Amino acid sequence: MHDTPAIADRHDAICVIGAGASGLAAIKNLREHGFAVDCYERETSVGGAWNWRHDRSPIYAGTHLISSRPLTEFPDFPMPDTWPDYPHHSQLLSYLERYAAHFGLGEHIWFGTEVVAVTPVGDGRWDVTTRSSGGVALRVQRYAAVVVANGHNWSPKVPAYEGLASFKGRMIHSSAYKDPAQLRGRKVLVVGGGNSGCDIAVEAAQQAATVWHSTRRGYWQIPKYLFGRPADQVNDLMLKWRLPLRMRQWLVRRTVRLTAGDVRRYGLPAPDHRPFESHPLVNSQLLYYMGHGRIIPVPDVAALDGSSVELADGRRVDPDLIINATGYLPKFDFLTPEVLEMDDDGRPNLHLHAFARRHPTLSVVGLLQSDAGLFPLAHWQSVAVARWLRLWQSEPARAAALWRKETARPPRSWARRHVVPSTRHWFEVGHVEYLRVLEGLLTELEPKVATP
Ligand SMILES: Cc1cc2nc3c(=O)[nH]c(=O)nc-3n(C[C@H](O)[C@H](O)[C@H](O)COP(=O)(O)OP(=O)(O)OC[C@H]3O[C@@H](n4cnc5c(N)ncnc54)[C@H](O)[C@@H]3O)c2cc1C
Repeated sequence: MHDTPAIADRHDAICVIGAGASGLAAIKNLREHGFAVDCYERETSVGGAWNWRHDRSPIYAGTHLISSRPLTEFPDFPMPDTWPDYPHHSQLLSYLERYAAHFGLGEHIWFGTEVVAVTPVGDGRWDVTTRSSGGVALRVQRYAAVVVANGHNWSPKVPAYEGLASFKGRMIHSSAYKDPAQLRGRKVLVVGGGNSGCDIAVEAAQQAATVWHSTRRGYWQIPKYLFGRPADQVNDLMLKWRLPLRMRQWLVRRTVRLTAGDVRRYGLPAPDHRPFESHPLVNSQLLYYMGHGRIIPVPDVAALDGSSVELADGRRVDPDLIINATGYLPKFDFLTPEVLEMDDDGRPNLHLHAFARRHPTLSVVGLLQSDAGLFPLAHWQSVAVARWLRLWQSEPARAAALWRKETARPPRSWARRHVVPSTRHWFEVGHVEYLRVLEGLLTELEPKVATP
């Protein structure tokens, strides 16, 4: 039993949870708007998912960006021009470390400190309970607002296969895949048609004895380069030209037909949805290795049975290693589900995927899946949060009216409208459309009276 710790009042300070890319952007922008900030980070350094020394980091030795450099960097802190279109994860970490050093963010971060509870006090303020890593003593501090930037790529979503207990091979989630040595000479079944599943299948093709790649549906496979440019930059251009969705879909169909052709020739199912109705799958090597017989496409897993795996089409394969690249689910253990109005599946109900509707002083940054890099979106979300909190303090009546107007807007005004229903698409946004909506909000949030 511990004594209830005394509550230390931090007055107008704001608590940020997490020092990954989103948390760093939040600290920087809140500081630039004049707020005192305490950031808590359970690991001992910055970088979040991109710091592969962190126990929970989901990346592996060969991870490179899937989104291209100019569409991933923060708008006020470019990556070096000499870096490639798709930098390596070690470059991403050094970039985030330099960002933190350049803006002097380190002094606001309490490393090795996990947030275990965030409780509304009732007057818009929050009690934040923390515990230092390895320690048992709890500390409670009271804050004017909380910005959650805890990431959503660290809590694995694991399939419940029939016959799982009988499986004699080894099974891991893609978050536990770190190095090609884990694949060498093995018979590997990679499950999942997302970017991680495709990338790991390609790594396995170069190391393993046999590789099966199991996907539930057919996807639009976009090569990493189109017309000599990174694919997301071509999409960005089409969006900026405001080409209608139907025309962009037609262009993707044409391009895929001219490059890959009919994917059924490789043994893959035809896509069961239109282009842009699922998170973009960007990979130039998957079809190459399928064409060389190094990756065997197979359908969904029906059941596990001893040393074999039964597939949805009745076929059986006998892997000694299954890698579930089946994605992640967001987790907010430090908040009660009511605070974020979570549904039974754990999906929070947030305005713009960022603002807790019932709690104007609670926001989430970085909870997005986009068709481009996340950092610019996390940056502009952070600016919006900072401006919002500034307005909340300085012009309460105007803030209350704006809040009522904003939170009455339906999700379809910012979320992607036509996407395949799956947890992968809970937070899917088109980056140009989302930024346009944020820009409108930022204009509304501009101060109309001089702040002291
Ligand atoms: C294989 C892979 C490839 C990817 N490729 C791309 C890409 O090409 N482009 C792109 O933009 N994104 C990509 N991503 C997404 C990636 O997650 C984001 O780029 C980015 O790292 C998200 O930053 P974040 O700060 O929101 O979350 P994270 O990086 O996960 O950081 C969250 C931080 O919060 C801390 N934290 C969590 N809970 C607590 C707590 N209770 N108390 C204290 N601290 C806490 C964690 O320790 C962590 O440091 C990829 C992800 C994966 C898995």
